[in-house]
Amino acid sequence: MSHDPLRERVGLLLDGEERFSSAVEEVRNPGRPQEVVGTFAVGDPAHIDAAVRQAAAVQKGWGGSDPADRAAALRRAAERIEEHAERLAVLASRESGSLIALCRWEATAAAQAFRNAADHLSAVSGYAEHGDAAIGDRVLVHRRPFGVVACIVPWNAPMILSANKLAAALATGNAVVMKPSPLAPLAASRLAQIVATCLSAGLVSVVGGGADVGEALLDHDLVRKVSFTGGGATARVIMARAARTLTPVHFELGGNDPALVLEDADLEAAARGIAAAAFRRGGQVCFAVKRVYVHQAVAAEFEDLLVAHLDGMRVGDALDETVTMGPLISRRQCEDIRAVAARARAVGREVVACGVPVGELADGHFHLPTVVLGAHHEDEVVGIEQFGPILPIVRSSSEAEMIRLANDSEYGLCSSIWSQDDERALAIAGRIEAGVTFVNRHEFSPQGSKWIPFGGVKQSGIGWENSPAGLGEFLQYHSIDSRSSAAASA
Ligand code: NAD
Repeated sequence: MSHDPLRERVGLLLDGEERFSSAVEEVRNPGRPQEVVGTFAVGDPAHIDAAVRQAAAVQKGWGGSDPADRAAALRRAAERIEEHAERLAVLASRESGSLIALCRWEATAAAQAFRNAADHLSAVSGYAEHGDAAIGDRVLVHRRPFGVVACIVPWNAPMILSANKLAAALATGNAVVMKPSPLAPLAASRLAQIVATCLSAGLVSVVGGGADVGEALLDHDLVRKVSFTGGGATARVIMARAARTLTPVHFELGGNDPALVLEDADLEAAARGIAAAAFRRGGQVCFAVKRVYVHQAVAAEFEDLLVAHLDGMRVGDALDETVTMGPLISRRQCEDIRAVAARARAVGREVVACGVPVGELADGHFHLPTVVLGAHHEDEVVGIEQFGPILPIVRSSSEAEMIRLANDSEYGLCSSIWSQDDERALAIAGRIEAGVTFVNRHEFSPQGSKWIPFGGVKQSGIGWENSPAGLGEFLQYHSIDSRSSAAASA
């Protein structure tokens, strides 16, 4: 039977080779659910066991290798990802529904994640020495990899989220067994395969599947750390599971990012920036703007500008270069967002669907970009992580109230302040409970991506990604406190 070139067939990655198991699942294009983008091999506990044992064996040499050699391997991986960037981007766009332009950026950013990790390696390598030679005391503080790290990643930005984990864990001398999301496993698996070609066989393995495969990975005795990006409900299950073996967890979780638009903001810039940050990937971004607090003195003007931006959005096929918002990942996600919108309408809020449908959207998982005007802070749509194209706007009477409401959340991922008074904005930023606060933007600059420890406070995460702090998540300490034999015998 000939192979359809438009259907990607992804196997498990075990011992450096792609293996095809008898169990496979289809991945469909969320914009055209009748289109099968590809299939992926589903692993079982025996595959997990083989991957983890192989990883543990090969990690010993890798963990003890010269950091400069590891950095060189990561830079080669970055080059190889770039060579395949277009293919990866098209695949990610077709399986996840993210715009092709965004997926091109994501493939490039994934390569850059490997370069950044290589650059940061010197900051976390080597050892510190202290002591008092006069009395023969010598203290050495080393950092060591954990060993085998389980990396469990979601579907919404599969390449960059996989790359962030792979780059940091590998740079610091760990081996990785990765489990991508069954909703978008193809590009993440291909990316890991590309990285693996630059490393010893077995240092990176990929085992596809759902929660059961993830749990088999968590349960393996030789897994020494779990790095998970996904939702809070799953994180609770993982944490409970990891508690059995006291395996440490690293969590990048959901958010409910507030944007604070002050009365002295450049309203046009704020509307443009917030429209982009709230509806990128259809709002399916952990640090999308998910609620806006706007000063009542400028609220009407801001809302008009925001709606005008959203009305300009073209909603359709993610591979169409003229489209500015693609589909959501699943029918369920669309139904959830529709239900949230209906409940907001039922409590008297003005729910405005914006944007222009492009082409035939009937079968796809599409939802127009929607704002909820006149929202109250206590509303459901304000308090939840919607993870879809719906944005509530809350009018507020003062700076102090905006700060209080922004902080009144169990989440604390990112946030943004919009003001033309830079000093005022920085002062407010300092009072926000979040991992990151942007000023007059709600996206990372290239330097921000490299240097900011990305992560959340409260229920948005445990630990950090990117930056030297992100590498530190994959290291533990080993110290030696020695007394010279002469001092000991004296
Ligand atoms: P999810 O939690 O449903 O799934 C994430 C991964 O966990 C998938 O690979 C899934 O198969 C796996 N999984 C599910 N149950 C498991 C179990 N019991 N044991 C082991 N693994 C299990 O999340 P999702 O729907 O794929 O992604 C959306 C969520 O991810 C949102 O809440 C979003 O905010 C969050 N997210 C956070 C970040 C961040 O960096 N903070 C980035 C992207 C997405």
